[in-house]
Amino acid sequence: MDESVEHLYETPTPEVLKKFQNFLKRVDKKTMLRQLPDLHDAAFDKINCLECARCCKSYSPRFKMPDIKRISKVMGMKETAFIDTYLTMDNDGDYVANEKPCPFLGNDNACSIYEDRPTDCQRFPYTDEDVFFKKIPITMKNAEFCPAVHDVMIALLSKG
Ligand code: SF4
Ligand code: SF4
Repeated sequence: MDESVEHLYETPTPEVLKKFQNFLKRVDKKTMLRQLPDLHDAAFDKINCLECARCCKSYSPRFKMPDIKRISKVMGMKETAFIDTYLTMDNDGDYVANEKPCPFLGNDNACSIYEDRPTDCQRFPYTDEDVFFKKIPITMKNAEFCPAVHDVMIALLSKG
C-alpha cells in the first residue's frame, strides 16, 4: 500500500468524527452535492478497493429481489436455491449474506460477481450521491472504517 494513504485506514478520532457530524448537519446541501463527484474521484484515485475490502469483509449489502434475480440467473441457480445457499433475512426484512466475509469475496479481495453485484455494492460508500449527507448515521459509520469516506471527510472539513 502507498504510504501516503496509510492514515486513511486509521479510524478517525472521536473529535474529528464529531466535527464532521456537525459539519454534515449544517452544510449547504446543494454546494456539497456539486463538490462530491470530484472528491469521490480523488479518493478512489488514491485508494484501491482491492487492497482494502473492509466493507465486503465486515458488512453485507441488501440483496433486493432484482439483485437476486440477476445474480442467480448468471450463476445458473434457481432464485430459491440462491437464497437458501447464500442469504438470510435480517431484522429489517432484507435479504443479506449469511456469512462474513461475503461469500462472493475472493482471497484476492476481488468480487466473483462484480459485474452483477447488488446495487448496494455498486453505490457504496455513497460518496458521490445525496445519501452521503441525507443519511448521516450511515455516513458516520462508514467514515470509521472506509478509507475513501475518510478521505472525502478530510477534504470537506478542510474546505470548511
Ligand atoms: S471499505 Fe471503502 S475503500 Fe474499502 S473496499 Fe469498501 S468501498 Fe473500497
Ligand atoms: S457481492 Fe461482491 S462487492 Fe458486494 S459485498 Fe459481496 S464481495 Fe463485496
